[in-house]
Amino acid sequence: MSTTKRIAPKIIALLGGTFDPIHLGHILPAQETACWLGAEQLYLIPAHIPPHKTGTHANAKQRAEMVALVCDSNKSVLLDSRELDRDSPSYTVDSLREITKAQPKAALYFMMGMDSLLTFTKWRHWQEILTLCNLVVNIRPGYSHTDLEAALAPELTKRLLYNLRQLQREKVGQILLHESTPLDISSTNIRARIKSSASYSKYLPKPVYDYIEQNKLYR
Ligand code: ATP
Repeated sequence: MSTTKRIAPKIIALLGGTFDPIHLGHILPAQETACWLGAEQLYLIPAHIPPHKTGTHANAKQRAEMVALVCDSNKSVLLDSRELDRDSPSYTVDSLREITKAQPKAALYFMMGMDSLLTFTKWRHWQEILTLCNLVVNIRPGYSHTDLEAALAPELTKRLLYNLRQLQREKVGQILLHESTPLDISSTNIRARIKSSASYSKYLPKPVYDYIEQNKLYR
């Protein structure tokens, strides 16, 4: 990813998530994919009150601080805290509307894992989301192209692409499946390992590991 500072970046890659905690399965595929997309910046957008989850384990401030530690080591990765600043539930559509308004010239590539694409038609105003960005879907271990295509709603299947050149033709409305290096890591698994006193440091960047230890999170 280029670290050149631009006032209006042409391509912005975005990754929303609970980040409870942020881990290498979020960061490495997202950075690799952002670089491959030619993105100047990668925004990490922690969700405040995730609409699809019952609750979080670390609080919003702690989750944002862990994301900020990841951003400290890479200037092109930015913490976007707009969802934490809202009192109402976090909706991706609201964030994308705001980012589009602030950066009308930028192409927004919203990244997600395959598990998220499978529930995408339950997201608030998902049709509008597809008018604001392209989706770039990273394959997660345990999912395959064929399973995904069979499970997806037809409104999504018809938008699937496998080629970056095709994606670049339209600014919005397409869904690219991307094979980044798969990492079998989830926040759920890390929290369970911490709770059972199993080792977990290899799943996280060191500053995030140190933060969890110092704050005795997820015990
Ligand atoms: P939890 O286990 O608490 O549900 P999670 O590890 O799935 O959390 P989220 O914060 O819910 O993490 O995920 C944010 C986004 O990152 C989602 O789009 C998810 O699909 C994606 N993601 C998470 N882990 C991976 C991974 N190992 N590889 C690729 N994408 C991932």
